[in-house]
Amino acid sequence: MDINLFKFCSGLKVLGYFMILLVVSIVAVSYYAVVVLTWGPQLLRGGIHSFLAFSILFLFHVLLILLTWSYFMVVFKNPGSVPENWRAVTEEDNMEAGSSMASSHHVEPETFASSDGLERKRVGYCSQCQNGKPPRCHHCSICQRCVLKMDHHCVWVVNCVGACNYKFFLLFLLYTFLETTMDTLVLLPSFIGFFSEAKNHSNSPGNLAFLFLAFVLNLAFALSLLCFVVMHASLVSSNTTSVEVYEKKKSVRWRYDVGRKNNFEQVFGTKRALWLLPVFSKEDLDKIPALQGLEFPTRSDVEA
Ligand SMILES: [Zn+2]
Ligand SMILES: [Zn+2]
Repeated sequence: MDINLFKFCSGLKVLGYFMILLVVSIVAVSYYAVVVLTWGPQLLRGGIHSFLAFSILFLFHVLLILLTWSYFMVVFKNPGSVPENWRAVTEEDNMEAGSSMASSHHVEPETFASSDGLERKRVGYCSQCQNGKPPRCHHCSICQRCVLKMDHHCVWVVNCVGACNYKFFLLFLLYTFLETTMDTLVLLPSFIGFFSEAKNHSNSPGNLAFLFLAFVLNLAFALSLLCFVVMHASLVSSNTTSVEVYEKKKSVRWRYDVGRKNNFEQVFGTKRALWLLPVFSKEDLDKIPALQGLEFPTRSDVEA
């Protein structure tokens, strides 16, 4: 059988742009159902109805802005590429530079060619990119390039998720989960009334179809996103990427796990005010090497 894997993977990339359209359509259906059909008209009823409708619509729009912002940050941000002719920092380089990171990288660039399995895992060579491979870096067959601290290739954002855009991906996940959960709850009364309304013909069939579709879509997304939110919360707290889950199972202590607080800051930065926004402070970008994706502090009690 002659299957061209590369053709298949570029096909997936084309599918990606269709996914953006799908995301926009789901948002549009939810917007129409929540804002135009159900809660918008409640604004003019006065009293508690208006107050409730205003609160729901306000929250809906805030979450929508945050999720759209995070979404476009994941889509357009380079997840992290390996610099040209990259090679591992050797002990000598570190001594020259007087770097304090020396303790975490005692790796000779040649070791990847040796039979020492452990070292080879950390510093390798990518034959497709013909360049060195920093620790935690993986070659993505869809993007056809190496991605720093690659987590996974996400078809929903048509991009790889790696060192530089993992936070944006997590925020997109979180806000989409919150938005779809809220949509499900605020559409629930209309969904329950759906069948009686269908009988009484009090709403047009088109609008009823929209309500039904929006409710089912949001419920399905909220439930599946919950699984991803829980999974990634556990990955962040243990400083593991989705690619590394299998590798981690084989070791007693995970070498990149440097405590819950440090693990969290390696992804979200140290500025509390920016934790919930898809941005980093310049100071964090300079100070936290993990955000650049080339060097990672390791536990002192784990060899190599
Ligand atoms: Zn590569
Ligand atoms: Zn990719």
